[in-house]
Amino acid sequence: MHVVMISSECAPAAKVGGLGDVVHGLSRELALRGHGVQVILPKYDCLRYHHIRDLEVMLQDLWVPFFNEWIHCSVWRGVMDGIEVWLIEPHSPQNFFHRGVFYGHQDDVARFAFFSRAAMEFLYKAGIRPDILHVHDWQTALCPVLLYEAYQALGWHQTRVCYTLHNVGHQGFTGEQTLRQVGLNPTRLMNHGQLLDDSRPGCVNLMKGGIVFANFTTTVSPRYMEEIRHSPQGQGLQRILNVHGGKVGGVLNGVDYGTWNPEVDPIIPSRYTADNLPAKFANKEALRRRLLLRDDFKPIVAVVSRLDQQKGPDLIRHALFTALGHGCQYVLLGSASEGWINDQFWALKRQVNDHPDCHLEIGYDEELSRLIYAGADLLVIPSLYEPCGLTQLIAMKYGVVPVVRATGGLADTVFDANHSDRPFEERTGYVFNDFTREGLDSALVRGIGLWFRYPEYFRQLRVNGMRQDYSWNRPAQDYLNIYTHIRP
Ligand code: ADP
Repeated sequence: MHVVMISSECAPAAKVGGLGDVVHGLSRELALRGHGVQVILPKYDCLRYHHIRDLEVMLQDLWVPFFNEWIHCSVWRGVMDGIEVWLIEPHSPQNFFHRGVFYGHQDDVARFAFFSRAAMEFLYKAGIRPDILHVHDWQTALCPVLLYEAYQALGWHQTRVCYTLHNVGHQGFTGEQTLRQVGLNPTRLMNHGQLLDDSRPGCVNLMKGGIVFANFTTTVSPRYMEEIRHSPQGQGLQRILNVHGGKVGGVLNGVDYGTWNPEVDPIIPSRYTADNLPAKFANKEALRRRLLLRDDFKPIVAVVSRLDQQKGPDLIRHALFTALGHGCQYVLLGSASEGWINDQFWALKRQVNDHPDCHLEIGYDEELSRLIYAGADLLVIPSLYEPCGLTQLIAMKYGVVPVVRATGGLADTVFDANHSDRPFEERTGYVFNDFTREGLDSALVRGIGLWFRYPEYFRQLRVNGMRQDYSWNRPAQDYLNIYTHIRP
């Protein structure tokens, strides 16, 4: 099978969150199984270029139509962690991908609409006709629309599209000028069955277009698909998902155990397995040294998260006080894109700066995240909604007990130590329902209590988590089944 991913992120060179991990993990697993896989990305100036080797120009002159002009691009080829990547570099005054950041500009919709058109134009001009195009989130939702509304008439018939929704919190709302920019006809597409948003008059909804035109749409966990089809979590997409109910489904993400695995993790000071758990303790000591926490007989409660509304910043903050109040240490690694949340956490950091039992690190730091997974005892994930969530899966692999809210992929993967109907070997953490401080405490305090009072039982919970298989093995097969199902 020949699969081309078109995405705004792919780890490790282009990662903001889980999207980057998923595109990377799935592509790698497909490539390892012998399928032809390439990933098309924008050639951002902020790519972590040291992860890409053998970078060379593959196509010097690609001219991409964009509104009433042609934008000159070059396409680069390189290899990232065994995956072939194709990078699109526009040479235009708009400097679409020379912004120092991946997202967060006024013209993000235009930037990624252009990218979608350029990726399709590149494949078309280069005569590359994969069996499957796999596109992701609102940024590349226009690709299936372009395939069927523009390129099919030019003779491109053999490709089918799988579209994955990683988060319906960002749908790509825009005006009809975006359709004109990429050469689509708004008069044909601006209706409720296609790209017109269901509740915003005159507004184009790119994600909706992706769902309508893709041959199959997935979410990153089965529970999240149920939630967005049947509750306000769908944020307006409920109707269209149900109209297309025959071609939607949920596939739980995997984690790349080739790197996210305490047995082989290249960063952590002491490697360990479920059979050699005491070796984990050296990482706890290293984490304490690194963050200047005192050495004491206490569990470390940790958070590794983007700090935005979805992740429950108020509860993340509250967990600090619960943890300290119950004799624990607290470590947070978080990055905020919204200014006011960033300010709030900086204020909190200043407030607790000198406390010997807590440390807040505001920013993005993968190396530190690995040390935290390796050194922590409990990981708090109190999300308002969570399409899949990777941090709980990584935590379990590293023998950290997750404390999660029962939503989306968190509910699909973490089973409560006390209340689950699963057999004991499948119980891996603590789960709460209410998105409130009391709700969080009802789970976190049980976890802390277990650490202090029943260490052997706590150890077994860690081992249960480490023995679960959330590798890409099963999800890659699920996606292959979907690809086979939609292939002509
Ligand atoms: P989302 O995609 O919504 O951010 P996920 O749980 O699916 O959430 O994926 C988050 C990924 O990003 C995990 O690999 C996690 O370790 C990583 N991550 C989140 N915040 C940070 C941070 N501040 N520094 C380093 N890694 C982070």
